[in-house]
Amino acid sequence: MKRVGVLTSGGDAPGMNAAIRAITRCALDQKWTVFGVRRGYAGLIENDIEPLSSREVGGIMQLGGTVLGSARCPEFELEERRRQAIDHLGARGIEALFVIGGNGSQCGAAALTDLGFPIVGVAIDNDLVGTDISVGVDTALNIALEAIDRLKTTATSHQRAFLVEVMGRDSGYLALMAGIAGGTEVVVIPEIDTTPEAVASELRSAYVRGKAHALGVVAEGASYDGEKLAAYFREHRARIGFDLRVTVLGHVQRGGRPTAFDRVLATRLGAGAVESLARGEQGVLIGMVGGHVQATPLAEVAGNKKIVDPGLLQLSRVLEA
Ligand code: ADP
Repeated sequence: MKRVGVLTSGGDAPGMNAAIRAITRCALDQKWTVFGVRRGYAGLIENDIEPLSSREVGGIMQLGGTVLGSARCPEFELEERRRQAIDHLGARGIEALFVIGGNGSQCGAAALTDLGFPIVGVAIDNDLVGTDISVGVDTALNIALEAIDRLKTTATSHQRAFLVEVMGRDSGYLALMAGIAGGTEVVVIPEIDTTPEAVASELRSAYVRGKAHALGVVAEGASYDGEKLAAYFREHRARIGFDLRVTVLGHVQRGGRPTAFDRVLATRLGAGAVESLARGEQGVLIGMVGGHVQATPLAEVAGNKKIVDPGLLQLSRVLEA
């Protein structure tokens, strides 16, 4: 019989609970014993590890965040701390660990694999290599869209331009997708250099083309983020000729109930993670590639970032017309 652990790490995402539930119940179905690690790698170092039962993961799927807690733990970059973590797992006879987390967390997972501990990761964050789509992205996009749709009404009523700043660290994926799905006039992302003047001219040209509103999306990691753009527009208000109001969604985007899509995705990836380990795989990330659950070696995932599809960027430009 196998003894396995599960943890959630890094930035929390809606759908993490569905992944915990699926991993726990599928592992129990394999007749394995499951342990939950609290607060990610921090709990691993501090030995905060308890058995998880089927009942304990009941009623959590509709909740945002993670019932296991999550944390950022810079100490985990030290090999000494990772060895300590492996000792704590070993003391309980835990032979493998599921890591539900984003890019940083999967780097930690790869570092544990390098020390010889079997890991299977589940993909959060859409800039991860090894998955087309990650858990939490759909919910975050829907929240961004709700803000965009509401602001559009206001923007149409007053002659004012609006920008919505979305999360995503140094990835422009969420901003681009929100721009396409929200039908905005401009998208500002870290991957493409732009200037406040160019943003102003795109928003102005929307009015000139007869649009009733001028609305944009900006990624938090763009060199000119919401705050910098707002400051520039304030300073040059007279010349630019209209106000710019910025709404920073921030952590609002991370909260809330996961969408049906995220619940199903997290469940399929969680179940796929257990199947992968049962097949004897380890040191892999479980993601969704071409509509199929797929395992990619963590060595290929860690430290790499998926780039934004240039075709989608081009499409967003065409649709801004
Ligand atoms: P996310 O997983 O959401 O990208 P972070 O980048 O904050 O979040 O990473 C989460 C945690 O993963 C870090 O706090 C740290 O404990 C661990 N981690 C990140 N990078 C490494 C690394 N190179 N080696 C070991 N652990 C790492």
